[in-house]
Amino acid sequence: MDDLLIRHRRVMPAWMPVYYDEPIELVTGKGSRVTDSNGKIYLDFFGGVLTNSLGYDLPEVREAVERQLRTGIVHTSTLYLIRQQVELAEKIARLSGIPDARVFFTNSGTEANEAALQAATNKRGSSSVLAVRNSYHGRTAGTIAVTGNRAWSASPLSPFNVSYLHSGDRLRGLFKGMSDERYLEAAEEDLREVLATTTAGPVACLIAEPIQGVGGFVHGPDGLLAVWKRVLDEHGILLVCDEVQTGWGRTGEHFWGYQAHGVTPDLLTFAKGVGNGFALAGVVGRAEVLESVQGISFSTFGGNPISTAAGNAVLDYILRHDLQANAARTGAILLDGLRAVDSPIVAEVRGRGLMIGVELTSAAATTAVFESCKRDGLLVGKGGLYGTALRMGPPLNLTEDEAREGLEILTSALHEHGGVLGR
Ligand code: PLP
Repeated sequence: MDDLLIRHRRVMPAWMPVYYDEPIELVTGKGSRVTDSNGKIYLDFFGGVLTNSLGYDLPEVREAVERQLRTGIVHTSTLYLIRQQVELAEKIARLSGIPDARVFFTNSGTEANEAALQAATNKRGSSSVLAVRNSYHGRTAGTIAVTGNRAWSASPLSPFNVSYLHSGDRLRGLFKGMSDERYLEAAEEDLREVLATTTAGPVACLIAEPIQGVGGFVHGPDGLLAVWKRVLDEHGILLVCDEVQTGWGRTGEHFWGYQAHGVTPDLLTFAKGVGNGFALAGVVGRAEVLESVQGISFSTFGGNPISTAAGNAVLDYILRHDLQANAARTGAILLDGLRAVDSPIVAEVRGRGLMIGVELTSAAATTAVFESCKRDGLLVGKGGLYGTALRMGPPLNLTEDEAREGLEILTSALHEHGGVLGR
């Protein structure tokens, strides 16, 4: 690589990290593979943080964007009607499972969560919010305030009074080693106690990721959201599901992460995968809740003609090719294969569909495996509260052969470092 890294470090803030001892620049992509500026090809199991949901250079998405570009209209603002925005909103409203739904488009997951928190706090006339430990919801004041991970909390300032519930982590902490049944009981006790001891007056909402993304794909047992919702309903507290990573069929069994729990949220936020790289995000929610925002609110670029052209093409492709089923199929190859790996550095393999986390016994082991995967041509992500989780979120159209190829690289990296960095 030329001096790009030096130039990057001179001009970019140091709190915005880049991956790897020797960072790479990805210059071309096709399908599930990317090529760096040295000509090295990688199978990409992280997809720009679960964003390239259909991989790279899919003709259907490229052509939809090119069609829009040819009209000469890249941007109009929401002061004018945007046909593909309305079409996409109709599809998302229908798919959300939320009755009488409204959709508001933004440019990022952060803004989507801000919009959801704005609606919920307006609706309830309260700035008290419940969040979950080990969560990540974005980088603005409001979304950092509900982020339960110190490493990602760039500011201590908060517009909300926030109380935190325990996460689904059963590897460490107070809920360590609990069975699903016991965990669900403990989670209910925890919520009741938090409400009784740390809140005053009405509480606006609980915001929760069905599977925690940055948190290393930690999740509670199926039914957790239902347990929480039963208690929330006693108090009229709204449920906001952050589906920024879990949406669009990624979890295989379901289209949305919340559907594993037998509940329907009041508000659902989405981003990442729906644009396949184009900046597209938003919130969908019950009209009664979303309409409670007081005053005019709009997003200049949110749901613009280019991003919604891409969004329609992405969503149509996912549905037409039943990529949810593909995520279940290829995800099972990875999950089963990883669970069969006998290495002393593997503490837990978890996740659903194509959202797979491998918790290792130390951050050093995680970094070593992560670097070895890169050396052997596989890009994966890292995460977890203590930097001990490998994260995989490959494109939803991953083939079974690609799943096996990535599994082989991962398996050999886990064995390579097992002897040196075990417990
Ligand atoms: N919510 C979740 C669950 C996320 O994983 C992220 C980003 O990683 C966000 C919100 C914030 O999204 P964005 O970076 O698009 O603002």
